[in-house]
Amino acid sequence: MYLEQLKEIKNLILQNDNFVLLPHVRPDGDALGSSVALALSLAKMNKNVKILLNDKVPNNLTHLDNSCIVVESLDIESQWLTESYVAIAVDCSDITRFPAFEGVYNEAILRLAIDHHKTAMPDADYYVVEPKAAATAEIIFDLIKEFEVKIDELIAIAIYTALATDTGNFTYSNVTTKTHQIASELYEIRDTFDDINNHIYSTDTVQKIKLHSEVLSRTNMFLRNRVAVASISQEQLIECGCEMQDSEGIVEKLRKIYTVEVAILLKEEEDKKIKVSMRSKNFVDVARIAQKFGGGGHTRAAGFSSELPRHDIVKMLVEDIKKQF
Ligand code: AMP
Ligand code: MN
Ligand code: MN
Repeated sequence: MYLEQLKEIKNLILQNDNFVLLPHVRPDGDALGSSVALALSLAKMNKNVKILLNDKVPNNLTHLDNSCIVVESLDIESQWLTESYVAIAVDCSDITRFPAFEGVYNEAILRLAIDHHKTAMPDADYYVVEPKAAATAEIIFDLIKEFEVKIDELIAIAIYTALATDTGNFTYSNVTTKTHQIASELYEIRDTFDDINNHIYSTDTVQKIKLHSEVLSRTNMFLRNRVAVASISQEQLIECGCEMQDSEGIVEKLRKIYTVEVAILLKEEEDKKIKVSMRSKNFVDVARIAQKFGGGGHTRAAGFSSELPRHDIVKMLVEDIKKQF
């Protein structure tokens, strides 16, 4: 089934020339790394390809090749929207994950999606969703093999970045032999990825460290220390001179507490909505919980956005988690 889906995606791609790739909002290493790997491969096949972003490239991902990246929709409209193009959702599979580009997606002559979220409810003409893949980049890797495109260094860096970030550096439960097999092939192309790891994980600012200590120092514990909850307000961001992307890593830190099964971070967005990030350690299915709140994700990492007050969200989440204990 999976292989057939890949072959069909390959055929659909071969029949077309212009592509717009749509990673999800606030792109992470997998969304962006997978998009860059796919874009570079399509470019090698003489296709026109752009990756559309509504946000700037996060600081820890600026090592990725940016030759195909267009930030904001306007550039692409002037350049392309007169010609027909295929849209490909990457690391997501419906417009709720890239709301700024709903029009771009829906006006495509063909809408494809490549995703690995088990909660995916694809809205596409054709898609491949493989929840067994640790990262969307595993599917992209298989697709590139189908294309018979040679993986060069820039593609290897993009795939490595996606694998490393979606697996907590190859430590999470989503890692399989396949993840390591792919990584091993990447090491055939590049002797080391330590510079890439340093870029992803060791380029923090002092402001970011101060934000983390400020937020972590106010952690609340629930259900006999098995649930850790922290939150970030816009005010704290301003005080620390940070942006929301500097919150990256906090929820993983909470999950490290030895008694903790579920870690929750509530992020107040500029529009006052609250973006919730959840991580679990051994058995709680956070994707199931996120789905109830209109979001989604994976068994051990999921999220959603809510307009409810922070206290109400925490209360509802704690009640819900209690049922899985
Ligand atoms: P985050 O906490 O933002 O790092 O997200 C954890 C996982 O849940 C990622 O795989 C996301 O793609 C997914 N996720 C986060 N927010 C949502 C949402 N609103 N809808 C669907 N999936 C989400
Ligand atoms: Mn993602
Ligand atoms: Mn992913």
